[in-house]
Amino acid sequence: MPPGTVRTRIAPAPSGSIHVGNARTALYNWLLARRHGGVFVLRVEDTDQSRVTQDAFDAVIEDLRWLGLSWDEGPGVGGDYGPYRQSERSDRYRAVTAALEDANHLYRCYCTAGELAQRRASAHAARRTPGYDGRCRNLTDSERAAFESEGRSHALRFRTPEGRTIAFDDVVRGPIATRTDQIPDFVVQRSDGSPTYMLAAAVDDVAMEITHIVRGEDLVAATPRQLLIREAMGVTDPPVFAHLPLLVAPDGKPLSKRWGDVAVSAYRRMGFLPEAVVNYLALLGWSFDEKTNIFSVDELVAKFTLERVTRNPAIFDVPKLEWLNGHYIRLLSPQALAERLVPVCVDAGLPADSDEGRRLLAAVAPLLNERLKRLEEAPPMVRFLFGRVPPDAKAAKLLEGQGAYLEEVAGALGHAEEWTAGTIEETLRRVAAERDLKPKQAFQPIRAAVTGTLVSPPLFESLEILGRAETLARLSSL
Ligand code: GLU
Repeated sequence: MPPGTVRTRIAPAPSGSIHVGNARTALYNWLLARRHGGVFVLRVEDTDQSRVTQDAFDAVIEDLRWLGLSWDEGPGVGGDYGPYRQSERSDRYRAVTAALEDANHLYRCYCTAGELAQRRASAHAARRTPGYDGRCRNLTDSERAAFESEGRSHALRFRTPEGRTIAFDDVVRGPIATRTDQIPDFVVQRSDGSPTYMLAAAVDDVAMEITHIVRGEDLVAATPRQLLIREAMGVTDPPVFAHLPLLVAPDGKPLSKRWGDVAVSAYRRMGFLPEAVVNYLALLGWSFDEKTNIFSVDELVAKFTLERVTRNPAIFDVPKLEWLNGHYIRLLSPQALAERLVPVCVDAGLPADSDEGRRLLAAVAPLLNERLKRLEEAPPMVRFLFGRVPPDAKAAKLLEGQGAYLEEVAGALGHAEEWTAGTIEETLRRVAAERDLKPKQAFQPIRAAVTGTLVSPPLFESLEILGRAETLARLSSL
């Protein structure tokens, strides 16, 4: 690897589909790596085996692939710094904790969960600062032996040095300094021998030579601790840190399921295009200038810098995402839109996955693309092309007593010289004029009879695509 290579990482704990905030973090790391010709690493934080299932792991992979955030090193790809699943790196963490314990940076803590909870409660009651009280920090050999003989297991805690200030420059938030008396001795290895996040992430960031740690603001308090671990490991060169602003709901509260969908997979299912989601995520905390909202992936790669990430919380605003989605839908060629609609239509029970299905979708695509904000809005609009649709309640009401009129329309259309939107329109307007009908009165019953609904793409073009024989059959069978 050439010196100076930018190495970034996304380190999801696989617990199902990625939260949009983590997707934003992944995107920024990916953009940074791509912009600098660097390496984007996927590291899976699956040390808490009890919570990790294969499905949850697969969901993470699927989301990242769908977003197009390809990783250069990681599961399924390999790389020189693997393995990339923390569950497969236990020996490395053990080696580090053994060395740090030898050097007196760690100590054994025999306190049980119950004891800790009790002392936390009394500290709380006495309004003392929360955090570990240092009970085991200076045990004598005989005290330790006594605990061991009781059969107690031990965790390993970091011996936070006294009287120091740990400082770093955050690209987004500026200089941050933390006095070590604000950092209680923290656990790096649980009593079952597993490493905590604090340790595993620090060890891996060093081992994987990560140059830029870009992550959510919720982790800003982890940074001084991880700098202490690095220092104890003898690593003094800090990486670049950037802590990204929180995502909030439109009411300013943290994004949560109570507010709406927070998982990337939900947006995929609702028919958002990955290019729209990527564009939107990029804008959540980053801007190029005041005006520009639309960025292709290539433009983002060319323009993205951490220096333009803002500190203010970013509002996750679905209408803006929909607006962008509409934009990207309109950019698709009819063929490309048809391809994207195939799975959505199949999910909605339409036999779209065939040559004929694709042909119909490509034919109707130019009529849809101005109207769609989400792909999932398409199936009800195109259903009529795949077979007769029984009229819905509104359509049925409108059709009452229209049999004779529709027969007349069918007769006129049967005589149209050719079957194009233009001749269809001419014919229908002529019949309407003869009967002295306003356009809406004249056309809505035809729409209802042919499509079963009152919301469908423009009528004349729809009939052209459906074909003369089928149109006449539907008009004449009321
Ligand atoms: N696993 C952490 C998360 O998903 C990431 C930790 C980090 O980036 O250091 O929030």
